[in-house]
Amino acid sequence: MELRRRHSSGATATATSYYGRSRILASDALPLPIRHTNRLFSALFVASLVFLMRRWRQKIRSSSPLHILAFSEILAIFGLMASLIYLFSFFGITFIQSIISSHEEEDEEEVDFASERKPSSCALVEKPKLVTETLPESDAEIVELVVSGRIPSYSLESRLGDCDRAVRIRHEALRRMTGRGLEGLPVSGFDYSSILGQCCEMPIGYVQLPVGVAGPLNLDGREYYVPMATTEGCLVASTNRGCKAIAESGGAHSVVLRDGMSRAPVVSFPSARRAAELKAYAENSANFETISLMFNRSSRFARLQGVQCSMAGRNLYMRFTCSTGDAMGMNMVSKGVQNVLDFLQADFPDMEIISISGNFCSDKKPAAVNWIEGRGKSVVCEATINGEVIKRVLKTTVPALVELNTIKNLAGSAVAGALGGFNAHASNIVSAVFIATGQDPAQNVESSHCITMMEAVNDGEDLHVSVTMPSIEVGTVGGGTQLASQSACLDLLGLKGPNTESPGSNSRLLASIVAGAVLAGELSLMSALAAGQLVKSHMKYNRSSRDIAGAAQ
Ligand code: ADP
Repeated sequence: MELRRRHSSGATATATSYYGRSRILASDALPLPIRHTNRLFSALFVASLVFLMRRWRQKIRSSSPLHILAFSEILAIFGLMASLIYLFSFFGITFIQSIISSHEEEDEEEVDFASERKPSSCALVEKPKLVTETLPESDAEIVELVVSGRIPSYSLESRLGDCDRAVRIRHEALRRMTGRGLEGLPVSGFDYSSILGQCCEMPIGYVQLPVGVAGPLNLDGREYYVPMATTEGCLVASTNRGCKAIAESGGAHSVVLRDGMSRAPVVSFPSARRAAELKAYAENSANFETISLMFNRSSRFARLQGVQCSMAGRNLYMRFTCSTGDAMGMNMVSKGVQNVLDFLQADFPDMEIISISGNFCSDKKPAAVNWIEGRGKSVVCEATINGEVIKRVLKTTVPALVELNTIKNLAGSAVAGALGGFNAHASNIVSAVFIATGQDPAQNVESSHCITMMEAVNDGEDLHVSVTMPSIEVGTVGGGTQLASQSACLDLLGLKGPNTESPGSNSRLLASIVAGAVLAGELSLMSALAAGQLVKSHMKYNRSSRDIAGAAQ
């Protein structure tokens, strides 16, 4: 809460107001059938109560025993109980919701206050009066209200209680407001309830992406068909060719060296000396048990592996690393870190929490810490490719590949001052597999860190090729992995959802498959470059005749 107050981002503000508004639904904006049901149960409650009171008064007067019940009395008692249960559950929940939403409204006010401080020309524009009563029946009228700003677009799902309808209305309102056709952005054919509150706010449709398949990828004695979502011509075909070369040479092998997600909060102290005291405490192995006890409370899958600290002046950056089962783990590790910070605050009252993330994590940014220490899964994948296969399938030679790899991927990247970019195009394969399988595509930044090595072996006859990827961040649960298409792609790999017998095995295998596909992609692209085929094949797959005609105009 403290953090959100100080660093409330636009996203947080939107989310808060969205959920706050959803509770308005409880009172006057109720749909007609619900209002009728409420009236019916209220009438039943009053009628049953009056009937029972009268009967019992008669019985008391005639000295009849109260516990001997006539059928009509049993019916009345039943009616009374049923109406009581219904009314209590309905209005009780509404009451609790109103308390919660009043708290959230307070948060909203803080966010609004922050934005009010900014000088804005919009301050002079009178805000449209918001519609708080029941919404009109027709979509067209609701579209009008959204266009005129009388219904916030973000509140449509909660006000309507129908995700598909909310998207149709928002799409139409946006079309009217911008004057853009949006014809190519489909609305129907997607389950919007599956993304509500989890994957995307204010949806107006969905983007279609083709998914290709490369494989079989022969990896650790098994075959995988690797789904790749991409719009780059040649990419799938090229990876497929690499898979073929690997399969015809006996397959690839992988090893997962590390598996741990990291989050590094930054805290500040009045002096560097005090910050160093906490650093010493956090890094002292004698305190690990206490810290991990606090950390591990966040989830049955989060298990603290270590804390690594770094300082800048009186600021302390603590990089917590933990295993996260089959989840990619950002939520999990963040919750664990928050628990530890709450615990430390008691012993270090002068510690000021600046941010739950201090960039030493380091998430979605190129950073040496991930390249050196690893983040997510650290994987090496290797294969020995027969010289004959290199000639027949890849149309090049072992010495040509080895020389090119040294001059391009190693020396060339050194000349460029690369950070984790000692490869030909790892990020091409990583992003395509990430998008297909519901991973966070922004984590492509560090997940694509890769050094590709090529050496001549067996007296120069064959090629030993490997990719070393220290920070592949993947999961098979959470985030976008549960969406229909993405989950189908995970299923294709046999990796849908959690591994209940051995939590973490699915996500580690997914990381190995990513590395295996990168190995195939590296082999194929490097071969194309060595053989001088790249431009030719791109002209074939990447430029349809229609495009060429268009470009010529
Ligand atoms: P992330 O931390 O990657 O953002 P989430 O927190 O959204 O992931 O999703 C992980 C959720 O899945 C947690 O609630 C966790 O308890 C649940 N879960 C179920 N099975 C597993 C598993 N095998 N490994 C990890 N998490 C699992």
